[in-house]
Amino acid sequence: MPNYLINKEKTDGRYNEVHTTTCNHLPEYANRYDLGFHLNGNDAVAYAKRIGFTDADGCYYCCSEAHKG
Ligand SMILES: [Zn+2]
Repeated sequence: MPNYLINKEKTDGRYNEVHTTTCNHLPEYANRYDLGFHLNGNDAVAYAKRIGFTDADGCYYCCSEAHKG
């Protein structure tokens, strides 16, 4: 099960992007918030929304199944 994190800073001022910790497109350390382990990107995005990141969206590269934006 992959470990996920979210970018606390919105991409294009619209989305908080969710990544696996092994993604090549991770945000700066200061902007990372650890989401823990999840089954897949959809699960990680749903969790992020539950904890307050209502504009969470999957990264195009590592969470394509959850990428909407
Ligand atoms: Zn990513």
